[in-house]
Amino acid sequence: MIRIYSAEEIELIRESSLLVGKTLAEVAKHIGVGVKTITLDNVAEEYIHSVGATPGFKGYEGFPYALCISINEVVVHGFPSDYELKEGDIVSIDCGVYKNGFHGDSAYTFAIGEVGEEKRKLMQTTKEALYKGIEQAREGNRVGDISYAVQSYCEAQGYGVVRELVGHGVGAHLHEKPDVPNFGRQGSGKRLRAGMVIAIEPMITMGTHRVRWAKDGWGVFTQDSLPAAHYEHDVVIGKNGADILSSFDEIEKVLAAKAV
Ligand code: MG
Ligand code: MG
Repeated sequence: MIRIYSAEEIELIRESSLLVGKTLAEVAKHIGVGVKTITLDNVAEEYIHSVGATPGFKGYEGFPYALCISINEVVVHGFPSDYELKEGDIVSIDCGVYKNGFHGDSAYTFAIGEVGEEKRKLMQTTKEALYKGIEQAREGNRVGDISYAVQSYCEAQGYGVVRELVGHGVGAHLHEKPDVPNFGRQGSGKRLRAGMVIAIEPMITMGTHRVRWAKDGWGVFTQDSLPAAHYEHDVVIGKNGADILSSFDEIEKVLAAKAV
């Protein structure tokens, strides 16, 4: 069963999703060369509590932190730590916020200082692929239309599309039906209906799409140790297209102000 959310429920999911963007904007204010990733986790957790919400990830299947912080060859689910960010790193930060009984779940990949052209292009393409997927998130289409849009866009540019981890329904639970893979065939999979809420989240690699797991059981690394990027939005399916519930606007405002 794929849940169809009411207009009132969707507004509550939107509130949680927008809080994820605001949390990541707080993180963006602090991120930079020499900053420990555990510090960013503390910033996020404090902010989430300050707005009367709770971190959606902390305690989820035993995950110990508010943020997943995944650096360079780490695709997703990296643990915050004493590692100090350095010039040229790319850092995928995934965040969940739970408020009023509903989850928001969104991710953004940050560049630390000057990163090389190859990493820039990987980040850019991954973000573009997210929006290619969102374009297909309309009533009457199928999940495979989203999957195909993401996969074909990224593979045409020589990138790898991770298979083992996928997008998902989101709302009352952090992970709901349906799975939303970033690879697949047009016209396949579950039919999309207005009121379904899904997290679309391309995880794209510079080389092989194959991954391995860290000894902690969480961190997911590329097998060839080449970098990966990850962007994620929560969207509600509409009759004429998707309504994006999360937002990168606050994050990108902070980044633009820092770049001056
Ligand atoms: Mg996420
Ligand atoms: Mg997700």
